[in-house]
Amino acid sequence: MIVLVDNGHGFDTKGKCSPDGKYQEWAWSREMASLIVRELLRRGYDARLLVTEREDVPINKGTDSRVKRVNEICRVHGKENVILLSIHSNAGPVCDGQWHDGRWSGFVAEVSLNASEKSKLLADFIWARAIEAGLKGNRSVIEKPGKRFIQQNLGICRETHCPAVLTESAFHDTHDGVKILTERKQSIMLAHVNGIMDYLNHIGGVK
Ligand SMILES: [Zn+2]
Repeated sequence: MIVLVDNGHGFDTKGKCSPDGKYQEWAWSREMASLIVRELLRRGYDARLLVTEREDVPINKGTDSRVKRVNEICRVHGKENVILLSIHSNAGPVCDGQWHDGRWSGFVAEVSLNASEKSKLLADFIWARAIEAGLKGNRSVIEKPGKRFIQQNLGICRETHCPAVLTESAFHDTHDGVKILTERKQSIMLAHVNGIMDYLNHIGGVK
């Protein structure tokens, strides 16, 4: 099984930072994606970064896109031998450059509207581990095992052929969220790695 880890956004993506500009989603997601890949490799899995550049690679525009990279690997290795994880931090719908402490919090795992059962299962396993790691907040409202995923119209998950999940570990427009993102990297990394391993064990434990 090839585990592809995508870090959303690049240094040239506008917005996507804390209101004071100190926290940058592109930098955090690159670091987190690298931590996840490193730990999976250490455990003997074939894990790969989808984007090694600092620049934003478009989701699905032009000759080189993140979707094209994923689907090429699916074509070569078989889509049943690939899973995709896209790493993000969250922000509320009010992108006004202000802090929104207390309004929203917590880990979420998202899949596309056309998500396969495998995508939902992968999201569910990772979300369960995130709650176990204490990343639950007022947006982590789905408690029911097997149902811990949110369906959204996400290009990176919709257009890619393999099981695909996008996670938002905490909100970067709240002080508490930034604190979690910057101070709890190890538990965020382990929630993803353990969730992936739970999923792989569930579908047959293929390395
Ligand atoms: Zn993002």
